[in-house]
Amino acid sequence: MARQLDAATREALVERVRFYRDLGLTEFYRRPVDAALLAAEADETQSAPVYTEAQPPIARPNFFGEEPAISARKSITAPPEIGGAVPASDRAAALQIIRDELGDCTRCALHKGRNKLVFADGDPNARLMFVGEGPGADEDAQGLPFVGRAGQLLNNMIAAMGLKREQVYIANVVKCRPPGNRTPEPDEANTCTPFLFRQIDVVRPQVLVALGATAATYLLGHRQPLAGLRGRVHAFRGMQLIVTYHPAFLLRDPRQKKEAWADLQMAMKELGLSKAATSR
Ligand code: SF4
Repeated sequence: MARQLDAATREALVERVRFYRDLGLTEFYRRPVDAALLAAEADETQSAPVYTEAQPPIARPNFFGEEPAISARKSITAPPEIGGAVPASDRAAALQIIRDELGDCTRCALHKGRNKLVFADGDPNARLMFVGEGPGADEDAQGLPFVGRAGQLLNNMIAAMGLKREQVYIANVVKCRPPGNRTPEPDEANTCTPFLFRQIDVVRPQVLVALGATAATYLLGHRQPLAGLRGRVHAFRGMQLIVTYHPAFLLRDPRQKKEAWADLQMAMKELGLSKAATSR
């Protein structure tokens, strides 16, 4: 018989289940209930049925009286396996093969509003790579990433690290501009990111900087607030990943530039940079 819970307890349990589901844990509460525990409970209540090992697993206990209203967890495609290392002399050609394979891509709906597909920009042998969210209007017009106002700020950030833009590699989660610069939908990002992962595997930078929550989500494969991801170095496919704010966000809230600079200094430390160049 279902237990009757007060509204506050019930809501707390729903929140707890949602929390575990967001963590990717969905099965633990469906496991067969331990027979010994049930027997002990039966002794206490004198009314619960006694289960034995021989019985099939019982259905999920209905703590809520009805199914809790929990929205389905959005799926994020796991990154593909790391490919073999591409020799430095072959990286430009390997990237061109990926570009050629993309072609006049129509794999997701974003192609409909696209002017130019934005593949990437920079040094195929860079030790430092930046990944943003997607092209904006300027990028869509020119076919290059980060060439608008946010791009100018990114250039300044790169210069502050003692580097030139030509010495790093820059790409985005999606290669076509989302309408109105909205965040890419999961199906759009999941369709496009396999190409990004292949680019990353070819360039194999020592340090990868995710610019903003969307880049961090699709690189790391799970959704988490930016605050929980910044300030540390993540292991990523044999590389080091650092998460910071997107330059477009910094244009809206310049007070966070100090925090972003702390993130970039972490990247510089990993690269052994003071004011030295990083091209290999
Ligand atoms: S966003 Fe990526 S997958 Fe979608 S159409 Fe453009 S290149 Fe193709």
